Amino acid sequence: MNIAMIGGGYVGLVSAACLAGFGWQVACVERDERRVAMLRDGVAPFYEPGLEALLRDGLAAGRLRFGGDAAAAVAASEVVFVAVGTPMRRGDARADMADVAAAVEAAAAALPAGCVVAMKSTVPVGTADEMEARIAQLRPGLDFDLVSNPEFLRQGAAVDDFVNPARVVVGAAGARGREAMAAVYAPLAQKGVPLLFVDRRSAEMGKYAANAFLAAKVALIGEVADVCEAAGADVEAVARIVGGDGRIGAGGLKAGAGFGGSCLPKDVAALVAAARGHGVRCRLGEAVIEANEARKRGMAARVIQAAGGDVHGRIVGVLGVAFKPDTDDMRAAPSLEILPALQSAGALVRAYDPQAMRQAAALLPGVEWRADARSALQGAHVGVVLTEWAEFRRLDLAGLRAGMAGDVLVDLRNIYRRAEAQAAGFDYHCIGSRHPGAGKEAGET
Ligand code: NAD
Repeated sequence: MNIAMIGGGYVGLVSAACLAGFGWQVACVERDERRVAMLRDGVAPFYEPGLEALLRDGLAAGRLRFGGDAAAAVAASEVVFVAVGTPMRRGDARADMADVAAAVEAAAAALPAGCVVAMKSTVPVGTADEMEARIAQLRPGLDFDLVSNPEFLRQGAAVDDFVNPARVVVGAAGARGREAMAAVYAPLAQKGVPLLFVDRRSAEMGKYAANAFLAAKVALIGEVADVCEAAGADVEAVARIVGGDGRIGAGGLKAGAGFGGSCLPKDVAALVAAARGHGVRCRLGEAVIEANEARKRGMAARVIQAAGGDVHGRIVGVLGVAFKPDTDDMRAAPSLEILPALQSAGALVRAYDPQAMRQAAALLPGVEWRADARSALQGAHVGVVLTEWAEFRRLDLAGLRAGMAGDVLVDLRNIYRRAEAQAAGFDYHCIGSRHPGAGKEAGET
């Protein structure tokens, strides 16, 4: 099968590389020429575990190609995926559809008769209808189908999520679209992955609703953590109790510094804005956004309080700035609010992140970047864990403490246990508990 993938970002590139891994011929179209040059050399333009190996395999097998010419890629394809960005639009918080419209228009001129266009970008309800009408307007009489195929992969586990998804969602209006998607995803269906065929509007809405549910869980466990702290309970224990209920599920119940990233903040905002556009209120969505903003703002205050109420002239060493581990993505990362707030309070901020420092440097002026965790905390009065990278879990806490000028450690991701941090000489502060045994989950290594 010949496939075109428009957009070589986190979703487009991972999808293109995985589809090539299924055995399909994939032409990935990316407008950023520098990125195309890197991709042709087998270099992934961002960090995602397993991606570069897959990219090189696809190139070596001749199944994966990169270029900037949508028309050339599309003309020879049976299925054309659109996987360009839909960021939050300034002003009204709706999804900015400019790239999607441009990609569809660039592809339209060359779409072959009988092809299927698959919308993988996260787009507002009704987009499939609108894009179908736009193509029909640009190519009167063209025989084509347009399906919605929202993507649910998580950055940091994107390759694994693409090849082992919980389900593949296809919103289709006709048999040809359904059949084409069944063929594309046949390697997944063969190993038991359910293909969920629904109508196009439900597929589009399902993606927003899924992210809103996830965001609500993250926001709620954050607020439950605050109550735990005040009331003498331990949020890690509470999360185990809650997550054990099959109606709720354990995912997303990690209390921390608030959610960030390229999806949850913008998708909840877009859902709330779209609801208003339809004359409906999404009050819980509004509350989730407010709770998350308050949580991120509160984190800097928490660090300052742990440091005795004043960080003026103090060195704060920060471990991790990416919005979550195993990615270098800085979009809407909580660090973008927390670090400037600490700087405004007079702190000198030093930081280390295993992958995100190049992206972060431009976004976090005045931060001193260090080559590893130990040197980020060297001479610091306060240490802060902001992203739960696996390597931070394995640090020699006593050695870190010995290199610091102060003894305060604020663990905003609960990766240590209070007893071990205290034994290493730290004045330890975690999220959602003042218990002596608090911190990472019991039994967690
Ligand atoms: P991204 O910004 O990483 O990638 C988009 C890419 O498309 C960029 O490289 C950009 O240069 C390219 N592009 C834009 N317009 C183009 C055009 N006309 N022709 C060719 N290339 C073009 O975005 P992303 O994170 O991959 O997200 C893409 C979509 O998938 C969004 O709608 C997002 O909400 C959704 N999504 C993202 C994730 C995630 O974890 N990042 C997960 C599920 C769904």
